[in-house]
Amino acid sequence: MTHNEHFAKEILRFANVLRYDVVKMIHQCGDGHPGPCMSIAEIMAYLFFYELRLDPQNPQWQGRDRFILSKGHACPIFYACLARKGFFPAEELPKLRTLEGMLQGHPDMNKTPGVDTVSGSLGNGVAIGLGMALGCRMQGLDSNVFVIIGDGEQQEGVIWEGAMSAAQYKAGNLIVFADCNNHQSGGKVTDLSSLYPVAEKWRSFHWHVQTIEGHDPDAIRQAVQNAKAERDVPSFIECRTVKGKNIPYMENNNIWHKRTPTAEEVVVAGKVLGIEI
Ligand SMILES: [Mg+2]
Repeated sequence: MTHNEHFAKEILRFANVLRYDVVKMIHQCGDGHPGPCMSIAEIMAYLFFYELRLDPQNPQWQGRDRFILSKGHACPIFYACLARKGFFPAEELPKLRTLEGMLQGHPDMNKTPGVDTVSGSLGNGVAIGLGMALGCRMQGLDSNVFVIIGDGEQQEGVIWEGAMSAAQYKAGNLIVFADCNNHQSGGKVTDLSSLYPVAEKWRSFHWHVQTIEGHDPDAIRQAVQNAKAERDVPSFIECRTVKGKNIPYMENNNIWHKRTPTAEEVVVAGKVLGIEI
């Protein structure tokens, strides 16, 4: 097996491990958003295990890369990444959405080690990320700021204020992924208030723009390398994804935007994801 094949296989395997973590967590706590986690699993696996410069022993390390899950309702997969990186013990995961736990229903920087900002009030991640990117640049840090937004999330006007400013300030250290699964809470994005073709809009805001298959590890890695090579222009990566990806009863089925898997559905997920249970 070549190095590249090994890389892709590892990302795909690890993305499924994260997916199963999510299914278990939401089943255990009885509430949450599984579908929106599944569409970003490969992106999260790549970022947290191959890309982000982080120190789990020192979450506030100044030289770290920053990460913002702007579509904050997908936080279970963010928490699974942080636990598996060693930011906190895995025993915290089943306490998702409990008052005594550190893992709230949307990311909270004051409660969870490794979370750089609150999010979940949709639309804010690009502008917050721009502030972080400029702050890093002012301090002479070579850190990159990675943001994941949803496709429906781009209906929020503040996204475009951030987009406009980022190009103006030449924030080349800001990289935004858009999880383009064509679903949002209320239905299909293209049926509600379509943003498509979305890449053209970001191009017109003077961003470096790429469109990739969002479940393809090699495409994700190459797109990030291309984005990092652009030092004077912020980068937008349109990721074509499938909501509920890799769990057949969830794929493209919008009732799984927010729904709790039953015990039987957890077992089925483990089997289809190839996780030994
Ligand atoms: Mg979506």
